[in-house]
Amino acid sequence: MTTAVRDVSVFGDAIAYFNEAADLLELDASMRAILTHPSRQIIFSIPFQRDAGGFEVFTGYRVQYNFARGPGKGGIRYHPGVTLDEVTALAFWMTWKCAVVDLPFGGAKGGVTCDPATLSMNELERITRRYAAELVEVVGPDKDVPAPDVNTTPQVMAWFMDTYSMHMRQNTPGVVTGKPLAIGGSRGRVEATGRGVTILALDEMANMHMRPEEARVVVQGFGNVGMYAAKLFAERGCKVVGISDITGGYYNAQGLNVEKAFALAKEHHSLEGFDGGDRISNAELLVSDCEVLVPAALEKQLNTENANLVKAKLIVEGANGPTTPEADRIFNKKGIIVIPDIMANAGGVTVSYFEWVQDRMGYFWKEAEVNERLEDTLLVNFHEMRKIVNQYKVPYRTAAYMIAIDRVVQSLKLRGVYA
Ligand code: GLU
Repeated sequence: MTTAVRDVSVFGDAIAYFNEAADLLELDASMRAILTHPSRQIIFSIPFQRDAGGFEVFTGYRVQYNFARGPGKGGIRYHPGVTLDEVTALAFWMTWKCAVVDLPFGGAKGGVTCDPATLSMNELERITRRYAAELVEVVGPDKDVPAPDVNTTPQVMAWFMDTYSMHMRQNTPGVVTGKPLAIGGSRGRVEATGRGVTILALDEMANMHMRPEEARVVVQGFGNVGMYAAKLFAERGCKVVGISDITGGYYNAQGLNVEKAFALAKEHHSLEGFDGGDRISNAELLVSDCEVLVPAALEKQLNTENANLVKAKLIVEGANGPTTPEADRIFNKKGIIVIPDIMANAGGVTVSYFEWVQDRMGYFWKEAEVNERLEDTLLVNFHEMRKIVNQYKVPYRTAAYMIAIDRVVQSLKLRGVYA
């Protein structure tokens, strides 16, 4: 990717999507001003001790974008590329994501600029506890509820929850979601984002009269989202022909052995050594032959450099912000359907909501119940979005933003602005 693509602000791109929908909704200037500014941005230092002795300092962030519909909600990302701009864009997207699937949450996101691959478990724990301690006053089940995101695991959530609970002097499982089952996690949460991607992709494929057996699927990224999406696509009879992670891409026109790749990634947290397909680059993977493309890695993967070469008929955005606005316009022109991130990957936060509800009740649901409610929540809202698509003749992304913005604006108007 060239520097030019990467240099454009992620939040700037996100605002471009917002403006398009806001125009169609004829949103007034006051509402636009409020909704294009984050409520609160917190930046702090995280000094931590290396196992070998000596201290280093990382930077931590939490952006609470909007509270109109409820407490903040959104993951925590540990990645060398984390910046205030990125976290703000991600918090902005969480606002629309929660609204488009009608969850009683606002939007937030957090991050630490670090490379977890270079950190021991002990170092990771110290960083997480310090990160949580810095946020004690501003998070909580009724304030802001973090969750996993890129490179943060149920174990990281457990440390966060424990640190918060220690400071509050009471067990507070509802302060984060995506926890291990034993301490108040929800069944089905780990798979939820990937499951949501597959649910919506299959619904859309049926709408396009494409049978699962006819669909060759390519999944970019084999983290929590990509690996479960690939597994579930294969289970539903689709032919998964391409997968990738930081070690590169793997392609097999006959279909990959996803189970084998899944087992490998589960054990080694990497696809290194996977021998079931030809080695290709990540760039080649995105433009390889397929019907369905699932970008499930990081932002800006589909951009002006490759959008014209994409062969898929359907793109399902497992990642947040994988398509730049310019690439999106190319896809729209070419008639490629894009199920936008705020809808496509909302399965994760939907089950996070179920986890929060279960924690508050102290009563836990069966996995089948979680999955059934997840499918119901996603499809009801996806079908509502399709109605807007047909009514306004707009792309899916615009329709999703229109619904989300409208819901946030309704809450904001009812509550009024405390000025
Ligand atoms: N990090 C996930 C996302 O981007 C999940 C957020 C959550 O469960 O709060 O949607």
